[in-house]
Amino acid sequence: MKVVYADNNASTRVAPEVTETMMPYFGEYYGNPSSMHSFGGQVAKKIDVARQQVADILGADPSEIVFTSCGTESDNAAILGVLRAHPHKRHIVTSRVEHPAVYNLCKYLAQNGYHVTELGVDSQGMLNLNELSDAVREDTAIVSIMYANNETGVIFPIEEIGVIVKQKGSLLHTDAVQAVGKLPLNLAMSTIDLLTLSGHKLHAPKGIGALFIRKGTTCTPFIIGGHQEKNRRGGTENVPAIIGLGKACELAKKYLPDEHTFVKQARDKLESEIMKRAPDARVNGSQINRLPNTTNISFEFVEGEAILLLMNEKGICASSGSACTSGSLEPSHVLRAMGVPFTAVHGSIRLSLSRYNTMEEVDYIIEQIPPIIKRLREISPYGRK
Ligand code: PLP
Repeated sequence: MKVVYADNNASTRVAPEVTETMMPYFGEYYGNPSSMHSFGGQVAKKIDVARQQVADILGADPSEIVFTSCGTESDNAAILGVLRAHPHKRHIVTSRVEHPAVYNLCKYLAQNGYHVTELGVDSQGMLNLNELSDAVREDTAIVSIMYANNETGVIFPIEEIGVIVKQKGSLLHTDAVQAVGKLPLNLAMSTIDLLTLSGHKLHAPKGIGALFIRKGTTCTPFIIGGHQEKNRRGGTENVPAIIGLGKACELAKKYLPDEHTFVKQARDKLESEIMKRAPDARVNGSQINRLPNTTNISFEFVEGEAILLLMNEKGICASSGSACTSGSLEPSHVLRAMGVPFTAVHGSIRLSLSRYNTMEEVDYIIEQIPPIIKRLREISPYGRK
């Protein structure tokens, strides 16, 4: 059966050009980039190219990029690194809708002697910036607010947030895992101090990430070991994945306009047609400030997992709640924070597209979902059919 992949916020297809660029570094070029000899040195040079490619998509300087193993590591490195570098500051500000990489880390810190302020969101998934301003204190070491939400696609006004954070004399970290490659970024003209990205959300492989650390920001290394990454992250570099991430960033920069034309048109069609054809449904999250590829729809009187199972039978891949927590039947903490009614939280699915989707695939999903919802409602014990 043909697979129609609409789960790109969970992970993306590795671009064929990325695989091709990586291949020689699994075979021919196996030298250690830290070695003195030129066999290793040529690998180090390729890492420099990748660092420049990552810096280019962010509008950053290559010296500000540290390669890590994933988005989760970058989030941990940013928050723990700043806390360790500023031991007298024990307060963190974050939001109630962060990815578990930040959300659960902050919960852990709160249980271990730190003070954490979790900001709520409104029904559109947006933050109240006055509340944010009131929350940042003299002892706030770091404010960690995501750029765009993985479940709903809601985009936060990070630069405005940054202005407030700067006025209050704290540091801003943003988890931009879902934003890089989908939104234009320019860190040269930005208030962001630290930024997380992850390869597998932008057509690079899994197990590679990066952390932007603005020049002059004090951040203690998270992984302590060798002198790699200019003493900012110990461990021999994952050379093929770093080179793949560089290539993926180069491609993402080239294809960025497609996100706001083709991908957005495809998402808008998908969303509006499903809303027309399936009654008692709602789109979760701001209509205006949203990633171009994401839609999160709640269907009343059905279970999201049941929808996904029947979609799976039709070859359609999507998520309910956060993909990283799928397998857990816990209702989404993001939708709950937005005050989405309990019944609608349980019937929510997320569809997320990429430049590799086609309009035929979108039409296929539009054909398949409404009858699935109808069928499930007919057998639902929860009332309205
Ligand atoms: N942050 C966000 C917003 C994400 O969506 C994800 C993954 O879904 C992560 C962090 C974690 O990234 P990784 O899977 O590379 O650890």
